[in-house]
Amino acid sequence: MSLTQKAVDWEGMAQRLQWPTEHFIDGGFVRSSSPERFDTINPATGEALARLPVGTEADVDLAVKAARRAFEDGRWRNRPIAERKAILLRAADLIEARREEFALIEALEVGKAVTNAHAEIAMSMDWLRYYAEAIDKVYGAVAPSDGSLFALNLIEPRGVCGAIVPWNFPLANAVMKAAPALAAGNTMVLKPSEVASLSALRLAELLIEAGLPAGVLNVVTGLGRSVGSAIARHADIDLLTFTGSTATGRALMEYAGQSNGKPLMLECGGKSPQIVCADMADELERLAGHIVHDAFWNQGQWCSARTRLIVASEIHDDVVEAVAAVAKTLTPGEPLDPDSRFGTISTQAQFDKILGYVATGKREGATTVLDGAAGSPCALSLAPTIFSDVSPDMTIARQEIFGPVLSVMRADNLDDAIAKANDTEYGLSATVWTHNAPVAFRMARSLRAGRVAVRTSVDAKGSTGIALGAEPCGASGFGVEKGLDGLRAYCRLRAVELY
Ligand code: NAD
Repeated sequence: MSLTQKAVDWEGMAQRLQWPTEHFIDGGFVRSSSPERFDTINPATGEALARLPVGTEADVDLAVKAARRAFEDGRWRNRPIAERKAILLRAADLIEARREEFALIEALEVGKAVTNAHAEIAMSMDWLRYYAEAIDKVYGAVAPSDGSLFALNLIEPRGVCGAIVPWNFPLANAVMKAAPALAAGNTMVLKPSEVASLSALRLAELLIEAGLPAGVLNVVTGLGRSVGSAIARHADIDLLTFTGSTATGRALMEYAGQSNGKPLMLECGGKSPQIVCADMADELERLAGHIVHDAFWNQGQWCSARTRLIVASEIHDDVVEAVAAVAKTLTPGEPLDPDSRFGTISTQAQFDKILGYVATGKREGATTVLDGAAGSPCALSLAPTIFSDVSPDMTIARQEIFGPVLSVMRADNLDDAIAKANDTEYGLSATVWTHNAPVAFRMARSLRAGRVAVRTSVDAKGSTGIALGAEPCGASGFGVEKGLDGLRAYCRLRAVELY
């Protein structure tokens, strides 16, 4: 049954859900070394969904030892390629078969509108399938050499990977780490966010069902300062891959340096720009739909949210009016209502932080175009807020808010637009709208971001899916994600000389 069909009894399914309540280590659920527990809270109701263990250094160590054994004895990396592929493909099929359950978990844990959650579940399946097929597409090379020498580059798995992920796309964030790392032959210890740990535990269980050997993917639940830092500081982890805030990413660099100097891959925060050039004047109404989607998808809680809208002065007022008209239609709903398209904010702390930024925007002199009403229908519901007359030095133009708040700036000309877009420490994504080909090419090269979308038509559609790898810039991190290079990122290059 499709997720968009109303016939799904979400409330009934929610009543029947069985929540995992332990770490997942060496192929099964394992009791924590500490009795301490934390609650996973449903943001729509404030009620506890599950009580999960506050993992300890000892739990992380147990998981690392299991992952190390699974790596060293070759039970995964030396298994025939066809079998490894089949296991990852089967895992994707199992997610597909349980997509409603995963969508429901996301809605309950982070307040996503359940109907919207299907996009994330589909993305997770795509990642598993892509990297399953990539297993035999990435290989080394033979270099030119003199005499009777064969000079080879082999690519090999790195070993035990640590992965630490955030809460905004709980299943996808876990799969985006596990799929390429496992496809490359590594094993993994994964720490989901304390806000949303349940999808990762389900994923680990489901991978075993798909045939993944025990110990290859281990999940330890708990807090960043204990479990996260124990993973980052562990001396027997060969690579640390992280998605989350820039502040945490920087702390992880210290932990890695203080322990075994493990290499890092960091996908951190963003403050992404969206530039609208004056030649888009004829298409503003339809363009507004794209702008609203890019700024407010997932209640603005996504790393690449285009939260700085930079508009050519000539069309500035019309764009603001059109965008506000569409944004007004994004009415927050109950996450389990199939008609909802806009869920709740995921935690009380995030909700308070967003409202703090809205107050700061007003205090610093931005014009409130749309004031997102808060608290209905759920206590953590928050409708979109739009500020215009934002200057690049204002707090709301500089800091990542991670909520439904859009800051609009004017640009006097192209140089000004580029300067404003690049006036940020971040560099995750950027979008430009123009019909003008030379401007499009210039923008593609001038904007400092890992992913730049130059859109020359409102009607143009398409997606590269996972195929196009990219690396963030500046405070947004480093290390390639997606594409075959995204698998290479989890490999070590070895030179072999054969005489
Ligand atoms: P966060 O940095 O607070 O937490 C992310 C993870 O790190 C969690 O599992 C947390 O427990 C752990 N952690 C926190 N402090 C730690 C510490 N001192 N040591 C070790 N681990 C620690 O981020 P968040 O609030 O969960 O997520 C929101 C952030 O994630 C935003 O900044 C957003 O931009 C970013 N994000 C980035 C991407 C991307 O692809 N670039 C994608 C999604 C989210």
